[in-house]
Amino acid sequence: INNFWNPVINIGNFYNSLITATAYLERIFETLDEQPEVKDAPGAFALPPIKGDVQFDDVSFRYDADSPMTLKHVSFHAEPGQTIALVGPTGAGKSTIINLLSRFYNVTQGAVLIDGVDISRVTIESLRAQMGVMQQDTFIFSGDILDNIRYGKLDATEEEVIAAAKVARADDFIRQLKDGYHTTVQERGVTLSAGQRQLIAFARTLLADPRILILDEATAAIDSQTEILLQEGLQHLLAGRTSFIVAHRLSTIRAADQILVVNDGQIVEAGTHQELLAKHGEYFQLYESQYKMLEE
Ligand code: ADP
Repeated sequence: INNFWNPVINIGNFYNSLITATAYLERIFETLDEQPEVKDAPGAFALPPIKGDVQFDDVSFRYDADSPMTLKHVSFHAEPGQTIALVGPTGAGKSTIINLLSRFYNVTQGAVLIDGVDISRVTIESLRAQMGVMQQDTFIFSGDILDNIRYGKLDATEEEVIAAAKVARADDFIRQLKDGYHTTVQERGVTLSAGQRQLIAFARTLLADPRILILDEATAAIDSQTEILLQEGLQHLLAGRTSFIVAHRLSTIRAADQILVVNDGQIVEAGTHQELLAKHGEYFQLYESQYKMLEE
């Protein structure tokens, strides 16, 4: 059972229990709309332990049978351990690529291959058990810090949790809380800042240790001291796993092994920061208009 994936899926259910009946129904329909159940194919088998090689082979996709393709002939190849940054305007299709990789939907044409295996042939559970997904806002539940981190691996010892928190750069702020790792958070406890929640998510993910990591980089304003910790923590998190980042920070994009520039459902450019700047194409434009000033 994959402890990492479940909290992500269960967030909706958790909040459902807190809100009114009308809102509850709305929420259910929204959730159904956004995340239809993809079923295991007949004869689906468990994906063996992976190295993390990811290939999109001429993938096209539409959300509805009667609408135009949202993704058109998307192909790329990520080698195990590489960091892939997805950039491009809102609505370009970055999240859709991620949705197909984690198989929230099946592709309409083409194939997604992990270690050479078409993911439509494997069980969803065995696929997601080897993937970690970090969303913009980290789910923190009522309880202590220790349990919140342990969510990444339910049988982790206290020593393992602390070791992960150290690598994730979360240990310092946790020790400054009044009861350290035993501090209660959320209801009737301490409220964590956006940056602190992210550090907790890093520690959780390090414990879960997935081969493939999907990260929707937060855009929230974070104080500069926490920002430094996040950058450090992120580098440790990325090391040794194939990572896909819907990236907003220039530092992350620059450090990526491959940048995929997505526009109107297609990959219009791919390469490293230096390679793409030299092309004077879409990435160059994006950089000039959005990022360059941040470097000065
Ligand atoms: P990005 O992540 O780059 O902002 P998305 O992948 O979210 O882009 O969206 C790509 C396109 O797909 C957009 O036109 C968006 O409206 C559409 N889209 C996204 N999610 C859904 C959905 N669940 N059902 C129908 N259309 C969707």
